[in-house]
Amino acid sequence: MVHEILAPATYFPPSPILDTVVKMQRTELGKELLEFGERCALDVITELFEHPKIQATLLYCICQWGLDPRANGMGYLIPLYLDRVGMSKHYCSGGSHRLAAALGREIIEAGGVILSPAEVNKILVSNGQVKGIVMTDGREVHAKVVLSSLDPHLTFVKMVGEEHLVDKDFKAAVKGWQLEKKSLFSVYAVLHEAPRYRANDPWVNEAFETIMGFENVDDLLRYWDGVQAGDIGDKIVGHSTCETMWDSDLARVPPRVITPVTLDVSALRPRAQHIAFFQMHAPYDLKGGWEARTQEIKDKVLERWRHYAPNLTADKVERVSTETPVSIEQRLHSMRRGSIKHGDYSPLQMGVSRPNQYCSTSRTPIGGLYTCGASNYPGGLVIGGCGYLAANAVAQDLGIKKWWSPTALMRRYEKIYLSEK
Ligand SMILES: Cc1cc2nc3c(=O)[nH]c(=O)nc-3n(C[C@H](O)[C@H](O)[C@H](O)COP(=O)(O)OP(=O)(O)OC[C@H]3O[C@@H](n4cnc5c(N)ncnc54)[C@H](O)[C@@H]3O)c2cc1C
Repeated sequence: MVHEILAPATYFPPSPILDTVVKMQRTELGKELLEFGERCALDVITELFEHPKIQATLLYCICQWGLDPRANGMGYLIPLYLDRVGMSKHYCSGGSHRLAAALGREIIEAGGVILSPAEVNKILVSNGQVKGIVMTDGREVHAKVVLSSLDPHLTFVKMVGEEHLVDKDFKAAVKGWQLEKKSLFSVYAVLHEAPRYRANDPWVNEAFETIMGFENVDDLLRYWDGVQAGDIGDKIVGHSTCETMWDSDLARVPPRVITPVTLDVSALRPRAQHIAFFQMHAPYDLKGGWEARTQEIKDKVLERWRHYAPNLTADKVERVSTETPVSIEQRLHSMRRGSIKHGDYSPLQMGVSRPNQYCSTSRTPIGGLYTCGASNYPGGLVIGGCGYLAANAVAQDLGIKKWWSPTALMRRYEKIYLSEK
């Protein structure tokens, strides 16, 4: 049986934050996480750890995807992020586009169709109910369900239109959405050899991620405060990974075409063996502008990287390309101002408030319209949580028998923290 899609009149926002607090108190672990909750990363790390380098490295790990080190109310993410970077960082073989391709195959296998490229510029709504979408080339697709992975401003203000946002509190919530204050600048390099770092640590060259550029928390904060103010100083702070050391799926760069005259055995060796990147926090509104300063900043990055990995001399670097916060936005319109999580991680934009209390269950006040991207609960990055929850909500509302099931850990979490008792 096909269920009615929830219409605005029957729509209820999800449970308030108080419910979450009560449910978290069911376990010792939950209580401990709540204690972290109100605190900022800087205070927790400087209180729990003594050595300046350990403090700074752990703070970098927690904040590397954009968490503000001084923001109160986000402390529950500290254990999660430490675990993610230290023990459970995952790498998608061949690059994360492989994951998107695998999900695409699932859609096709289940009888779906993917239109690409197909830019949507309007979501059709009538009497509070979604009716379909319109693409920039004029094509229309009519549907009783539409899912948007874009942020609330793009979904509701740009695509749905303010005239359909009848609830003034909902409209205010959508319009108040805040993007991240920092973005990323990346230098991607094709190298003749993997970086060899000069740190006095036998394992340093086997690390998946190498963090560099600071000696203590003050150095780190100085860099981040500079970024917040729109600049990048000479003391660049960032991290690097040499993907080819970990991923046998990545193609090695082929040898150059060799003419018979130059043919000798050594020339047959591939010229470049590795790809690696250096990534750092960077402002979208860079003083002087990215167009004028990309080359200068790229050179600074290479110099800084070489400072820590002296073998990366110019002759070992075959090719280099860059991605600025502006080019992130150009490549992915969903990442406005280079906001890689589609919106800030702040207490007012997390948990049941991500993207707002009206849409965090993926359902929205517009009947049949669902939100499913990084701006939704549980948040951004390649974790798949928002899409998974939205797919479940749609299946439930349409009475579709799901052909997927939660993992054992998710079942346990649901039983402990989400059940009514
Ligand atoms: C340089 C960089 C490094 C990152 N590093 C990491 C990392 O190490 N680990 C990690 O977990 N995450 C990382 N991220 C973040 C991660 O990629 C995002 O948080 C994640 O991709 C968000 O997924 P999403 O599906 O919600 O949105 P997106 O990946 O932004 O996908 C939205 C899609 O919608 C398309 N779109 C936009 N507008 C329209 C339109 N009008 N019509 C049709 N389609 C449209 C976009 O082209 C895009 O394909 C990184 C991001 C960047 C840019």
